[in-house]
Amino acid sequence: MQSYSERFDAGELIFSEGDAPTGAFLIESGRIEISTTQFGEHRVLGELGPGMLIGEMAVIDESPRTATARAITPCQLTRIDATQFAERLATADPVVRALLLSQLTRYRSALAKLTGGNDTASANMHGAHDDAHAIGKIRLESELRAAIERKELEVRLQPIEEIETGHIAGYEALVRWTHPRRGDVSPAEFIRLAEETSLIVPIGDYVLERVCDMLVEFRRRGRKPLPFIALNVSARQLDDPGFVDRIIAHLHERELPPQRLKLEITESLVLDQARIAALLTRCHAVGMPVALDDFGTGFSNLGPLLTLDFDQIKLDASFVRALDRPRGVAVVGVVVAMTRALDCDLIAEGVETREQREILHRLGCRYAQGWLVGRPTTFEQALDR
Ligand code: C2E
Ligand code: CA
Ligand code: CA
Repeated sequence: MQSYSERFDAGELIFSEGDAPTGAFLIESGRIEISTTQFGEHRVLGELGPGMLIGEMAVIDESPRTATARAITPCQLTRIDATQFAERLATADPVVRALLLSQLTRYRSALAKLTGGNDTASANMHGAHDDAHAIGKIRLESELRAAIERKELEVRLQPIEEIETGHIAGYEALVRWTHPRRGDVSPAEFIRLAEETSLIVPIGDYVLERVCDMLVEFRRRGRKPLPFIALNVSARQLDDPGFVDRIIAHLHERELPPQRLKLEITESLVLDQARIAALLTRCHAVGMPVALDDFGTGFSNLGPLLTLDFDQIKLDASFVRALDRPRGVAVVGVVVAMTRALDCDLIAEGVETREQREILHRLGCRYAQGWLVGRPTTFEQALDR
């Protein structure tokens, strides 16, 4: 078996230009000279010492060594297996990986020009598809950034009906992006991208401001009772310690009742119970309701409900679709009973047919949201309902 700690004597060769990449080294002690042959002549590229890595480039892109490493003094090196880098690289953010590989490619072709050698890196374009995907993401991110600045995002409202009375009790705010070339980009795609970066913060602030202005406009038009508007909140926004304060400040500024703005927290975020408990305390202190979104999907676990007192639960559309089977009806019936016992309201999402609404009504579900009630519309259209 190969030893992970290796000793080299002064003058000894560690690897040579053109060698296959077997691994990288961390220099523990001693000094190493990195050199290359430039148009047939020996050229020193640099000298490296303790704490530095050598040979990592060849390991990253699996190209032959582009330089020679030789111990100047006696050296102690720790060998780093190629798979150690490969595993990390494989799980790294694809954008970071694309950046790294692009830098490496550029460095290698510059080196090739300098030494009169072969441009091995350009030939070694493995992972090109992966790069294209990452580059696409970078481009979309830049475009999204510009769209935010130019206020090209639009906030639509989808009505939520009280089933018993047929009255529109409120709306869910859903953001839309009309891309100049691609047309409508689904929030499912760009919200995920925004969540990977800090872009979700300005988007969230923009949606918040629009929603507050819409509430003001509903009030000005004399809409009574004032409908509520629900806002989707993502993980990064919750990380922001000033988040709830900003919401409260916006409401105060416009003298809006906090009961009319509702936050929706998706079920997967509830895994971090302490954080959500703090948010609930904070919101309830000012009278702002909080809904548990997408209930029943993926992370289904009743544990959080033991401690977290949500005001509303939004039943995921997959359960509504299951209402055409006795099993689905049985499960939804149990969810209705549970929410009633917990003293919170239930909103069924994705209600598309009269039959679904009829069954939900019979089971005792209070609210329905979905195409049957109305698609997400512009604010002007919502004013007319
Ligand atoms: P969500 O919170 O579960 O929103 C409900 C989604 O279901 C919306 O998709 C809505 O258009 C769609 N929908 C409503 N009724 C029906 C129906 O009857 N049938 C079907 N098939 N679909 C229906 P949308 O607008 O594409 O939004 C997707 C997700 O993007 C939302 O899921 C939410 O998680 C996220 N999102 C949207 N706007 C925002 C936002 O402003 N901030 C954040 N953080 N996330 C947002
Ligand atoms: Ca939602
Ligand atoms: Ca939902």
